[in-house]
Amino acid sequence: MVAGCFAIGISAGWTYPAKRINNYAYDELSTRVQPDWQTHSVVVAIDERTFREKGGMPNIREIESEALDEIALAKPAAVATDIILADPVNPLQDTRLEAVLRSIPKLVLSCDIAADGFENPLKQFQAFAAAEPGHVELVENRLDGVTRQIPLERIVPGERRWALSLQALAVTRGQPITESPPDGIEVGNETIPAPRSTGRPLYIRYLPQNMIPVIPVPDISKRAAEIRGKTVFLGVTALSAARDRVVTPYNETISGVEGHAQAFETLSHGEFLTDSRDDTLFLVCVGFAVAAGLIFRMLSGWLAYILDALLLAAAVYVPVLFFRHNVVLPAFGPIAVAWLCSAGAATYQHFFVRRQLKRSESERSRYQQAIHWAAHEMRTPLTAIQGSSEIMARYNLPDAKRTQLTEMINSESKRLARIIQTFLDVERLGAGEMELKGERFAAAEIVDACMKRVAPLADRKKISIAVDNEIDGEFVGDRELMEYAFYNLLTNAVKYSPAETHIHVFSRLNEGEFRLAVRDQGIGMDAKELKNIFKKFYRTRRAEASGEAGTGIGLSIVEQIITRHGGRIDVTSQPGKGSCFTIVIKAHHDSPSIRHQVADR
Ligand code: ADP
Repeated sequence: MVAGCFAIGISAGWTYPAKRINNYAYDELSTRVQPDWQTHSVVVAIDERTFREKGGMPNIREIESEALDEIALAKPAAVATDIILADPVNPLQDTRLEAVLRSIPKLVLSCDIAADGFENPLKQFQAFAAAEPGHVELVENRLDGVTRQIPLERIVPGERRWALSLQALAVTRGQPITESPPDGIEVGNETIPAPRSTGRPLYIRYLPQNMIPVIPVPDISKRAAEIRGKTVFLGVTALSAARDRVVTPYNETISGVEGHAQAFETLSHGEFLTDSRDDTLFLVCVGFAVAAGLIFRMLSGWLAYILDALLLAAAVYVPVLFFRHNVVLPAFGPIAVAWLCSAGAATYQHFFVRRQLKRSESERSRYQQAIHWAAHEMRTPLTAIQGSSEIMARYNLPDAKRTQLTEMINSESKRLARIIQTFLDVERLGAGEMELKGERFAAAEIVDACMKRVAPLADRKKISIAVDNEIDGEFVGDRELMEYAFYNLLTNAVKYSPAETHIHVFSRLNEGEFRLAVRDQGIGMDAKELKNIFKKFYRTRRAEASGEAGTGIGLSIVEQIITRHGGRIDVTSQPGKGSCFTIVIKAHHDSPSIRHQVADR
């Protein structure tokens, strides 16, 4: 049950709603567990106001030159531009920009990804850059459009570009970017975990929007102090001109250049979030499944429910704990597994307890019935014993009468002892406590003994009993119990047959099975009755009507005895025609007599 719930919980983790929930949980966590950082970057924004004051988009190259000029004067640590300088505008403006770029010592330009490769800056501009251009791709999550990760590497055939933010970090630090196999990128002694197989993604640890200063171009000289020593990201933020917008986990929309600055802060502070490994997630889920199972296996009632509530709370808390250790654990899996397994285990416990209750109730009523039966059966011999002993005490009886009464007391107390023994045997057999002896004996022995015992009964009804073939099998087990079983079948055949009928006893060895059968020409049973005859205290209506005394307990004991010997009882019967009860037991091949029988056939 718990395993099934676990499997459902784990597999549900791949579904669309689960991924949405994981994204939602990630956003909640990343906005609640905020990094407490001093920022290292500023954004210089070519915003609406800049365009208004400086001639709009057609004048962009001029605006850029002017902005860079002023930025250079403010002495930044490095400058990264998020404007693709791939096309010439006019020679005058381009030359001006060239001159400005030359004056910036730590410069990174950007490139875009076009259908046929990278759209790189013009060579005349790139010539002054301190590193290769950085790509400016920001990837939205397919399900909800939020940009949580950016690819640090982009490869088109023959060319590779690092992200603008990564290049900005390398240039700021004056250190090269190298690959650190198998799954990392190194900038100086900083290792960034970013597996190549998944496109080297970097979780951006977004800072609240106002933490990275955004300085409009017209304000650069006024706010030069904020730029000093910082890495500047220059880009267009005006809604009318900027193509790239980023939706953050804060559910805010920011411009692409701000997104790059945010990624730069993550890289620069070196606190990277990584996805949890699949086996970690699996183990966490297994842990919750096992815990839920154990809670409901070992405890019940309120204590179980309280502990389980704590477990469910822990399932919610585990992703938080991982996040605090910079690991992104999908929240859905543990929560789903904990809930499903708790529900499964609680339901199972409920039904298990109910089943136990039912079983113990039926056991109690069975026991009560058995006591009833025993008390009822014991009354007859007890009355006889009491009566006889009273007569003996009260009257001076002749010797013959006295002997008769003594014999009666003796035989009735033996009967009483037998009843008590049977009662105890039934109980012990039922509880599986009775130890069977493991003796080897010939089937013929018990057949003979039973035939002798049943003869007076059969004679009284003028029923003939014939043993059809030589009974040539062997049993290994409890001789006394087997005799009890066979005797019961034989007495039933006599009891439930009309006078002057025949009973046949025969044995067969068939496909490794030894069969010992008693066939009568008695009252028989229909199929429905046949199903019930091994139940304790069950008697057929025909048996009741026959006037034969009975308790309906014998066959249940017989069945238990045979089952405990590893065998079964086959019954065929037809109402009014007769029945055939067959004891079927695995043949013992090492038995010489049986081997002999097999050889004969
Ligand atoms: P009892 O004979 O004391 O009633 P058993 O447990 O030996 O109890 O048998 C259960 C019932 O199975 C009997 O009451 C009778 O209805 C039916 N039964 C058993 N043996 C035969 C038989 N040989 N022919 C017809 N009915 C039988």
